[in-house]
Order: sequence, then C-alpha cells, then structure tokens
Amino acid sequence: MSTLRFHAVKASLKRKPLKIKESKRRSEIFGSYVFNEAAMRQYLTKTAMNSVIEAIEKGTKINRLEAGHISTGMKEWAISKGATHYTHWFQPLTGVTAEKHDAFFETIEGGMAIEKFGGDQLVQQEPDASSFPSGGIRNTFEARGYTAWDPTSPAFIYDGTLCVPTVFVSYTGEALDYKTPLLRALQVVDNASVAVCKYFDKNVKKVTASLGWEQEYFLIDSAMAASRPDILLTGRTVFGHSPAKGQQLDDHYFGTIPARALAYMRDLEYHCMLLGIPAKTRHNEVAPNQFELAPIYEEANLAVDHNTLLMDIMQKIAKRHNFTVLMHEKPFAGVNGSGKHNNWSLSTNTGVNLLSPGKTPMSNLQFLTFFISTIKAVQTHEELLRSAIASASNDYRLGANEAPPAIISVFIGEQLTKVLNELESVTKGKLSPKEKTDLKLNVVGKIPEILRDNTDRNRTSSFAFTGNKFEFRAVGSTANCAKPMMVLNTIVAKQLIDFKIEVDELIDKKDMKKDDAIFNVLREYIKTSKAILFEGNGYSEAWEKEAKKRGLSNNKTTPEALKIKKAKSTIALFSSLKVMNKVETEARYEIEMEEYILHVQIESRVIGDMARNHVVPTAVRYQNILIENVTGLKAIYGNQYKDFAKEQLALIEQISQHIEAINSSVTKMIGERKTCNKETNLEKKADGYCHKIKPLFEDIRYHCDKLELMVDDGLWPLTKYRELLFTK
Ligand code: ADP
Ligand code: MG
Repeated sequence: MSTLRFHAVKASLKRKPLKIKESKRRSEIFGSYVFNEAAMRQYLTKTAMNSVIEAIEKGTKINRLEAGHISTGMKEWAISKGATHYTHWFQPLTGVTAEKHDAFFETIEGGMAIEKFGGDQLVQQEPDASSFPSGGIRNTFEARGYTAWDPTSPAFIYDGTLCVPTVFVSYTGEALDYKTPLLRALQVVDNASVAVCKYFDKNVKKVTASLGWEQEYFLIDSAMAASRPDILLTGRTVFGHSPAKGQQLDDHYFGTIPARALAYMRDLEYHCMLLGIPAKTRHNEVAPNQFELAPIYEEANLAVDHNTLLMDIMQKIAKRHNFTVLMHEKPFAGVNGSGKHNNWSLSTNTGVNLLSPGKTPMSNLQFLTFFISTIKAVQTHEELLRSAIASASNDYRLGANEAPPAIISVFIGEQLTKVLNELESVTKGKLSPKEKTDLKLNVVGKIPEILRDNTDRNRTSSFAFTGNKFEFRAVGSTANCAKPMMVLNTIVAKQLIDFKIEVDELIDKKDMKKDDAIFNVLREYIKTSKAILFEGNGYSEAWEKEAKKRGLSNNKTTPEALKIKKAKSTIALFSSLKVMNKVETEARYEIEMEEYILHVQIESRVIGDMARNHVVPTAVRYQNILIENVTGLKAIYGNQYKDFAKEQLALIEQISQHIEAINSSVTKMIGERKTCNKETNLEKKADGYCHKIKPLFEDIRYHCDKLELMVDDGLWPLTKYRELLFTK
C-alpha cells in the first residue's frame, strides 16, 4: 500500500465521534444569530423596524435616514454577539457564495478607535469583484459591480462576521448574480397569482412561492479524501473499481446513522439552528456513506439563501469532524449519486396553499387552476426547465438508472389523472346548470378526499405532484436552487398571466360566467398538456422512445441542454416579464457554457495526470516484480519454467495491453484538448469537450480500473472504493 493510502486508512480507522453537547432546546437557540424580528424589536426604533418589514412585505425602498438607524442597530446587535467584522454576502455567477470582510473597527483622532457601521455600508458596497464571471456584461476595466442589501433575507452572524445578504449588479443595472433574477421572478409570480386569486377570493393581496429543498451528500474521511487527487480537484472519483459490496443489500438506506456521521449532523444542525436554517430531517441515503438533510420549507428566496449558506457551513463544520463533504452529483461510479429535490408551492397571505385543495368547490377550482396552469407551464417550457438544472456534474447523474432522465415529465397520480380526464370532457362553451352542479359536486368537490389518502408516489418522475406541492427531482446536489426556482416561477407566472387574459376574454366577449370561462380554459389546457403527463417508469428505455414520439426534448448533455437559454423565445419570455433583459439572459448562457468547458477540462487533466503518474507507474512496478519472478523461475527450471509461470506471463501481457490502451487514450485526449482549446467558437468548443474528450474518460477509466484489480493491493496508490465508502 502506498504510504499516503496507508496513512489515510489508518488515520480514519482511529477516529472517534466528537462529543456534541446540547444544553439548550433547539427552539430556544433557533435564529439567535439572525437579525430577525425579535432582534429588530430589541435594537431598532419602531419606525426603522417598520420600514424593514414594509420592505420585506411590499418591496418598498428604505430611505437613507432609516438605513442609518438600521445599520446602527444591526451593528450593536452584532457586536453584542461577538461579531467584529461585516460583509456583504452575495451569490455571483460562479454559483457559490462570495464575501469580503471588513472590520467594524475604525481609528479616530487621538489614536483612539471606535466600531462603525453606517447606513451606506449596509445598503451598498463596491467589492472589487472584477474577477467574477459576467459573460461580457461588465468589461473588467470599465465599471465595477456593486452589492445592494436584500432586506427580504435577514442578516446573520457566522464566525464573528455580520453577513448582509445582497444582490450583485453592474453599474448599468444588469444582474451579475442568481439572486436578482430570482427576486424579480418571485415578484412576477406574486403579481400574476394575486390577479388569478381575485377570481376566487378578493382578500388575497400577496402570493409567496415556497421552496423546501432536500440536500443529499456523501461524507468521506478527510485523510482519505486528501489521498485522492480527483476528489480534491473535481469533487468526484474519476477512477475506482466497484467494491465487492456496494448498495445491493440496501442496508444503508434509512439505517442506523454511523456514530461519527451523527455527531457531525448534530453539530451541523446546531449551527443551522443558530443561523435560522430550519433543519428538520436527517437520514442515511441509498449509497454507503450517503446522507440527506431537509429543512422545513420557507419563502423561496430565503430558502435559496439558506441552502447556499448550508452548503458552505457543511464543509466548514466537516473539518472539525475530519470529514470531507462530497456535494458532487456522482462522486462514485456504481452507487447512487446525489440530488437536491426542490419542493415548490404557492401560498397566499390568507394562509391558503394554492396547490392544496380546500374545503369548498370554489377553493378546489382555485386549486385546479394553479395545478393545471403549472402543468401547462411545464409542458410549454419543459426544455427551458431542463436547461435550468444543466451542469457538467449533473450530466453524470441524470439518466443514470437511479435519477430522473434528462426528459422533463409531470407525474400527478392515478386519481388526479381521472379528475383531469373528467374535466376534459366538459362541454365547450357555457355549461348547463346541471352540468355545473354535477361537476362541482362529483369532480371538483371530491378532490380533497382523493388526496387525503393519496400515497401515490413515483420516484422516477422528474417533476411530481406530491399532494400539496410539486417536487422537481432532477435538480443536482451542487446546484444553486435560484436557477431552477427562477425558471419555474417565471414560467408559471407567464402561464397565469395568459390564463387571466383568456378567462377575461371569455367573460367579456363570449358573455360567459366566471366559472364557465375557467372550466373552458382549463379544459383546453388539459388537452394541450397531455404530452408532459407521464405515470410510468421514467428510468425505462420505453419512456425515452415514447417521449420522443410525444415531441419532448431529451437533451442528455449540458451543451445541448443550454442551447434553449439563448433562444429567441427564452429572451422574449424573460424580457417581457422583466425578469432578465437580453444581455442578462445571454450572459448566463455564455457563463454556463464556459463553466461546462472548464469543468470537463479540469477533469480531463486530472484523469490524464492520475493515469500517467499514478496508475501506469504502479502497473509497471508490479509488472517488474512479475518479470523478476519469471526470470527467477527460468533460472531454476530452465526451459520448463513456462509450466510454473503461466499466470505471471498472462498478467505481464495483460498489464502491457492495459498500459498501452491507457497511453494511447491519454495521448488522444491531450491531442483533442489542444485542438479544442484553439477553438474560438464557444459552441464548437463545448461540443468538442462533450463529444470528443469526455467519451475518452470512460475508456481510460476502464483500463485503470482493470489494473486496480490486477495489481498487488500493497502497491496500489489510490485509496480504494471499499475504503472510501465503508470506513465508518
Ligand atoms: P420526501 O420527498 O423525502 O418523501 P417530503 O416530500 O415529505 O419528503 O418533504 C420533503 C420536503 O418538502 C421538505 O423539505 C419539506 O419542507 C418540503 N415541503 C413540504 N410541504 C411543502 C410545501 N407546501 N411547499 C414546499 N415545500 C414543502
Ligand atoms: Mg422528496
């Protein structure tokens, strides 16, 4: 065994779970490091507090004077909690969070110092952020971007620093982050939903989109992770033969959580509590050493912030426990990868979940309106929704037989399918009083009962209705949820706007009653949304064929999937709703294509390096041992040596063949990379990385993994799957 591997395994075997003491109830510490309403009440004047609350609820601006008061209160609160620094916390287009800390501390005359945090520092900052990707929006030498406070996501303290969630925009006003378009999309879906709700309840003033994500991850001992260059640089293993035992016994899923992992989870949850992240569920996932954390759902923007914050602190806290968190969608071949289901719903200020049927036929009609409009939105924009979850790392997971395919389809269950079928057969035009009563009582009225004992679940669907919410299951574990949430809320908003126009037209021009008009529009939506509804096995080949017939997209790779992002229809959609203008839309396309290329490029380099510098030299060493053995046998047995060296000779030959195959593929890969890197056209470059370079990964891996099985375990330098996955 190589020294590094030996020490890694030895170190991890010695680890003991950290002792975690929890002396207080979680409800007592929940949000104690968040500048929430309770903190505001204590540290702000009533007017200052009201201006924050109004900004949250109505999106009003906070004036300079109030900002000054708020910042002073916030600073006092932060210092009382031991904070020394502050930062604007933002999410540039790298997809991860960014921060630049400044001390409150400032010197004044007479060699003295004070703690200062003014309104200007709260509201707006200008980080020297010229190295963040901007997709050509902002020439680095021209103008810098600035960060501006987002009062809808409360400030929090982490590790002695007051973090103020902010948006990141260029001086010309273009969004340089994922949060700004999300906030705009949430506003749009709010407005569109409120307008539709007015058909049912005049009291609805605000509709909020909620998100409940489920974060899957792997925990690997940090010494072992550090012994693998691929894990360090790409977050996944590029080589590694499957262990004799994988997940086939299903003995990890929902099993007893290993002690070290549990200590980590408790520590993590403790910090979640302080930061106001409502962590609720923890369990083992399907693959060995794979786990999940799910919170109670929250307003979508806050939930996105909480997820990005969580991903950040997960790594930090893991260090204390000598763990490395693998957030990658497919860290290990042969066992399940990780996703991040996005559970989504819409709810009103009157406390109604619009995706949950109510007690009266009218509220059920409202449910049907939102339910069917969402289906129709997904039908129309399935390809765009697919593009929102595209990434180099998610390509390894989507379509593998444990994850939804790259095809977007909606699962609604048998009972709701029946309801839609019945609605579809409603007479065109005005309904007779009898028909209407019948419909309300026997179809619409029955929905709550149907859903009450609805245990209908389909784990293979990419977008499933689960009783009172839709669950977008194709989202990758590393994703910033802002991307899928921005798209989903935008397309639903667009659909609701169209719905309102169509219903109003029937009322005004065809003299229809409101209910008649709604039934008529919904009936047409059901008719035109058929292709997206699928109840069968989403992992099957038959579905791929069927989906093709139905005209659904099946973009298996990121470059293919991203194309729709710069399509005229996409630009028109986002700009008409003012979620993103043309420049912002195109910039994101460019950035994500570049990001894809860079990720595949890094993997390709790592693979080349590990194949040539780790695997091949080790195979040669082992081959030399065999040769020495054969030479020795020859010295003893003369011409008869072959009788005693059959296995050795076969191995020597096979090793040479694998080495030869590895070397020729690596050489080919490097050649392709050189050609690709000269390519100036972004599409062609991404295409080359996707279709010329990436396919070689599998080739190289195949031979490296074969060598792992042949070479003396004592010589093998890379920590093996059985060690990575089964050391507890
Ligand atoms: P699982 O998918 O593992 O069976 P559930 O579907 O019960 O688990 O719930 C998972 C997630 O769904 C949780 O994060 C929860 O907060 C979230 N969730 C539950 N209800 C809603 C809702 N109405 N809107 C959005 N998210 C929700
Ligand atoms: Mg789920």
